[in-house]
Amino acid sequence: MRPETLFPLFAPATSLPGIGARLARLVERVSGPHVVDLLWHLPTGLIDRRFAPKVAEAPAGVVATMTVRVEAHSPPRNRRVPYKVRCSDDSGALDLVFFHARREYLETALPPGSIRVVSGKVERYDGGAQMSHPDHIGAAEDLSGLLTVEPVYPLTAGLPPRPLQRAIREPVNRAPALPEWNDPAWLADRGWPSWRESVQAVHAPRAAADLEPGAPARMRLAYDELLANQLALSIVRSRRRRLPGRRIAGDGALRSKVVAALPFSLTGSQTSALAEIAADLASNSRMLRLLQGDVGSGKTVVAFLSMLIAVEAGAQAVLMAPTEILARQHFATVAPLAEAAGVPAAVLTGREKGRARQAALDRLASGEVAAIVGTHALFQEDVDFRDLAFAVIDEQHRFGVHQRLSLAAKGRALHMLVMTATPIPRTLMLASYGDLDVSKLTEKPAGRRPVDTRAMPLTRLEEVATRLESALARGARAYWVCPLVEESEAVDLAAATGRRAALAQRFGDRVGLLHGRMRGAEKDAVMARFAGGDVVILVATTVIEVGVDVPEASVIVIEHAERFGLAQLHQLRGRVGRGDRSSACLLLYDEPLGDTARARLNALRETDDGFRIAEEDLRLRGAGELLGTRQSGLPEFRLADLGANAGLLAAARDDARLILERDAELTTERGRALRTLLYLFERDAVANTLRS
Ligand code: ADP
Ligand code: MG
Repeated sequence: MRPETLFPLFAPATSLPGIGARLARLVERVSGPHVVDLLWHLPTGLIDRRFAPKVAEAPAGVVATMTVRVEAHSPPRNRRVPYKVRCSDDSGALDLVFFHARREYLETALPPGSIRVVSGKVERYDGGAQMSHPDHIGAAEDLSGLLTVEPVYPLTAGLPPRPLQRAIREPVNRAPALPEWNDPAWLADRGWPSWRESVQAVHAPRAAADLEPGAPARMRLAYDELLANQLALSIVRSRRRRLPGRRIAGDGALRSKVVAALPFSLTGSQTSALAEIAADLASNSRMLRLLQGDVGSGKTVVAFLSMLIAVEAGAQAVLMAPTEILARQHFATVAPLAEAAGVPAAVLTGREKGRARQAALDRLASGEVAAIVGTHALFQEDVDFRDLAFAVIDEQHRFGVHQRLSLAAKGRALHMLVMTATPIPRTLMLASYGDLDVSKLTEKPAGRRPVDTRAMPLTRLEEVATRLESALARGARAYWVCPLVEESEAVDLAAATGRRAALAQRFGDRVGLLHGRMRGAEKDAVMARFAGGDVVILVATTVIEVGVDVPEASVIVIEHAERFGLAQLHQLRGRVGRGDRSSACLLLYDEPLGDTARARLNALRETDDGFRIAEEDLRLRGAGELLGTRQSGLPEFRLADLGANAGLLAAARDDARLILERDAELTTERGRALRTLLYLFERDAVANTLRS
């Protein structure tokens, strides 16, 4: 359970003095629901108010804090003119300027004859000094309190800076002293302060350098976050390792039949991935391996051959796909291979209903079927296996952790192979899976050709249509991808439907439409017509993103390419260039194109190496725009910037490994402090599994 020292930090933000319901809603939007979220809401700027010149010496454009005497108010004659309050010190006059002012407020705050401290940016106007809307107006005795450096926080609409500053200052000042979970030698070596000092320091920047990711206090907190992440992953992982495994070794008979039946020979990396998988299965711990391979690198064959190891050993194996189309496609690939080996195979998706479904379930339960391809329909409760030993999960990030667990429950000591076509940069890989075993398919199968990639503005649509027309005349087939709009399927659909109608005016009924809302049979029908050549242009929302394989397709047009992430564009492009004709990818963008979008489109034109693209993607996205990460199910960090703190991540991994080697249940003094760390970063689920 969460240690008591952390209770105040996990109180709702509303519990802080001075935060009412309205403000709390805004604060919650900008930082999060708990007090601790306010601590993690780091300043992105600062205002130095320590400069306290005489009025006559205050330069324009600089923030100054000045003590002045209020002389007179000049209320405006109409709303377009500002309200002015004339003030002065012994060096000269300063006009305070207010637009849309509330007169009563100004008369109370700035009574004529009083001495006031004002702080804000000084402007020079007609030779005189003025300050519009001072940031602070206080009594003379407030001076020393105002001569500070003020943190500037990211805001949200409707949340003014002052209340947010106050809301954050309160818990920062009262931050508890937590037991030290870092190794003292390491702390001393890096010159990092304690947790509490760090929290206080990051919220009290004195200079621009204090805002950098490399500032000691920021680094310490980033490290804490990464350590919590790596420790949690390592604990989960070591528990998994300790679970009894199940040795599975086949005699290779089925595999060799399939390999003999393949119209190609396996690439070197396919062969070594298979050897790694076979070794895992034959060891006595539970396999959890990631098979990473760019689009078209031939993961399906690897998946199927490794499933056969389980089948050779007399057990069952499943291949799970994230969508119905993909499951069908995998099955279409796998079925003839299964037949070549004489292995009974079946497919199960949401589409099988009633009697057909029951028949399939019976064959799984009896063990008659050894190799099963399907979707999440395989997770349902009434699905039983006779002896499920091995599961391959394709396009991993589309399935939630929860689903993965419910699949694990269906097998005995289930071995898992997770496949992804999103080449995940090393850094993110470590952050999301810890030290997961990885096999990589690095070679492209023979016969794949580079795709001629071009970018052009949407205004040249007519030209695109003309080019497409001549490509189609030469027998090409094309995908036309419509943009993802705000992730709303209804809007996507409208765009795709509209585009289909427009293209149909020119190309007639050979234009098909594929989208996520279609029923399974409809999707299959369209895909079949496209594969067969009755449909030559397939307008699609991003449902085609993963895995779809029609080797005859050689052109892909991506509308509003600027709205897609780099990895996603790369995946889409991977749909073409699979057959023997030369292929093209047209990226249509809306002008003006932002710098990042431009860099993305350029990167795509320059390389088709998925791993390089992934690194570039991470670099371009930086810490700021995490949208792509969120979509891919990769972790997000509040304090650590994976671009800037990559070295820290590796250190945290080593640290976590060492800690668990010495103190697996975190029972030593440092171990107990580390438990607090886990709770601090909300790894409660993992921390709760530790022995009390
Ligand atoms: P992905 O990794 O994107 O899932 P697939 O498994 O769909 O790739 O394979 C893409 C295509 O490449 C398929 O048509 C498959 O039959 C073919 N393929 C797989 N391995 C090889 C190989 N070693 N040589 C030639 N073609 C291959
Ligand atoms: Mg695939």
